[in-house]
Amino acid sequence: MKLPPDTPLESLDWVARPKLAALRRLGIATPGDLVRHFPRRHEDRTKFDRFPDGESDRAICLCGVVRKTVARRFGPRRIFEARVEDESAGVLGSPLLCRWFNSPWISRMIVGDDRIVLFGKPRMRGTQVVMEHPEFEIIEDEAGSSIHFDRITPVHPAGDGISPTALRELVHRALAETDLSALPLLWPDAEADPRVWSDVHFPENLAALEAALARLVQEEFFAIQLVVRARRASVRRAGGIPRPGTGVLWSAVRDSLGFALTPSQLEAMSEISTDLAAPRRMNRLLQGDVGSGKTLVALRAMLQAAESGWQAALMAPTQILAEQHYRNFRNLLDPLGIRVALRTSSLCESSSGPPDSAPIIVGTHALLYDGAEFQNPGLIVIDEQHKFGVLQRSRLIARADAPDVLVMTATPIPRTIAQTLYGDLDVSLIRHRPPGRGRVVTAVRDPAKLPDIIAFLRKKIADGRQAYIVYPLVDESEKLEIKSARAEFDRWRELLAPAAVGLVHGRLPADEKAEVMCRFRDGRISALVATTVIEVGVDVPNACIMLIEEAARFGLSQIHQLRGRIGRGAEKSYCILLQESPEAHEKLSVLEATSDGFEIAEADLRIRGPGDILGTNQSGLPPLALGDLVRDAEIMSEARRRADALLETDPGLARPAHAPHRALVDASTSLQAGN
Ligand code: ADP
Ligand code: MG
Repeated sequence: MKLPPDTPLESLDWVARPKLAALRRLGIATPGDLVRHFPRRHEDRTKFDRFPDGESDRAICLCGVVRKTVARRFGPRRIFEARVEDESAGVLGSPLLCRWFNSPWISRMIVGDDRIVLFGKPRMRGTQVVMEHPEFEIIEDEAGSSIHFDRITPVHPAGDGISPTALRELVHRALAETDLSALPLLWPDAEADPRVWSDVHFPENLAALEAALARLVQEEFFAIQLVVRARRASVRRAGGIPRPGTGVLWSAVRDSLGFALTPSQLEAMSEISTDLAAPRRMNRLLQGDVGSGKTLVALRAMLQAAESGWQAALMAPTQILAEQHYRNFRNLLDPLGIRVALRTSSLCESSSGPPDSAPIIVGTHALLYDGAEFQNPGLIVIDEQHKFGVLQRSRLIARADAPDVLVMTATPIPRTIAQTLYGDLDVSLIRHRPPGRGRVVTAVRDPAKLPDIIAFLRKKIADGRQAYIVYPLVDESEKLEIKSARAEFDRWRELLAPAAVGLVHGRLPADEKAEVMCRFRDGRISALVATTVIEVGVDVPNACIMLIEEAARFGLSQIHQLRGRIGRGAEKSYCILLQESPEAHEKLSVLEATSDGFEIAEADLRIRGPGDILGTNQSGLPPLALGDLVRDAEIMSEARRRADALLETDPGLARPAHAPHRALVDASTSLQAGN
């Protein structure tokens, strides 16, 4: 009799008691969990790499014998070294030195004559080839080691109290004992072949491994899509309030604009307008590059909600931005007698009358939590969504008063990520910026060119132009940040004297920040030394130079955002990226070549991986065990199509065959509600 996959591990005699807690920390409580605890990677232990005679940027996998170990101290550092020899090379082979710092427990794990498998990058230290802190595994006993050695061997994510070797044994046992046909496979119409589970851990050959991986990536992605698409479907099914408006207010605003709307803007407006008018909740993402004119699209939606008798609020991530939107809106709406209120944590004003009855409200995200003015919410617009957590968004959608929601982002998001992170939203895209803007020329330069660059800056400033000088945060710590900001500021003040130079950084109190920004906007400051606080939204058309120091520390998309601050007037603008290393030059050259934010985002995704793109760690992306958002992009799109098709044919997932699908969606919903 095979075990049901959800048997508690406690009840099995082949799981050592002391391991249970360590397993639980890895989220493993049943044999089914063990089977789904996928390897981080595999090592082909039938043929190892040759012992290296130089550096390598690729990690290599070696097998050798430990010849000699030494533990010593070097000042405060404790060093453990093991000299490992290639058995097959005999006296001709040169040994490899493995080295660990401050890891005294390693010396108890590695002893002479051990057979050892190593995984790491060889480095040259003087004339010696060294691996520092390699992953390693001692090969215990050859007879019983068939799952560890002489095969394609899985390396599982391990943890405190449990080694990859121990996990490998447990997974192997679980595969043998568990009724694998009882593990649900969700991808529609796929052949249910339980062999996929053993192949993903212990494949006979690489082809079998690849086939199993491809199949299980489908499963992984389909599970994500089923959850987000089911969420979208349920919001749509729940209905909502139609807010058709009359179009009167918007036509008045539109007629007062000195320019024509772009086709992209018009298309987005019409999609949003249709959503608002429909008797279901809008839950939409508006993506458009910096300067593509998203604010007017938002304003049109807000006026439509207002015309229908509701309040509409636009929320910005910072006070500076909120005030800027407020000013812009007042310029457009005051002449028409439409009231606008501003509400940030420190400010509350309105164009006339009490703020709580203004149909149009502008504020910071604080408004969401404590917005007495916002009594009758019909539409909530979130500007710069990427500064706003995924969790906050799901709270917003869960609000009982069920306002329509429009989130906007100027960070073009690669398609696979958008499908994952924003899979529950409908998406409108503004692909092109309005015509007639000054061109932005981007150039990557070596810091050796700085004298020329400074001369150029001085000349532009003498001509009345303004410049941003952006540098990366050197350190997260408050003291160091302020210190380095000051140092930069003093340096630039000297270099650009007598021009007025201002400083903004993240640690400046909000009112001082606003004050400096004000003076920059009014032209009383010629150059602004800044950290990324200027990243979003700030609009100073006369600023036409941006110098970015140590540019490679920023992501490509982030730089693209930054340079969106220039090129806002008719003037030709210059974005200069200072960078020393030639490899970094190559990476940055994407920015010289294109100004298409989506192209840049895709390049960023390839270079840096998904975690970094939306701001470190807070991406809100589910951790992926197998799939890769770059490599497997097509599978994600297909998973989405199939999830939609499934939800179309069986909206409630009520059919018996869809019980596992239903269970997955229910589990994710209760997880969300628990938040
Ligand atoms: P973003 O999409 O980055 O939020 P904004 O909405 O702030 O961009 O628009 C940037 C600038 O472009 C604003 O000054 C706005 O008035 C102007 N703008 C918007 N749409 C157009 C258009 N169709 N033609 C010309 N200028 C426009
Ligand atoms: Mg904007």
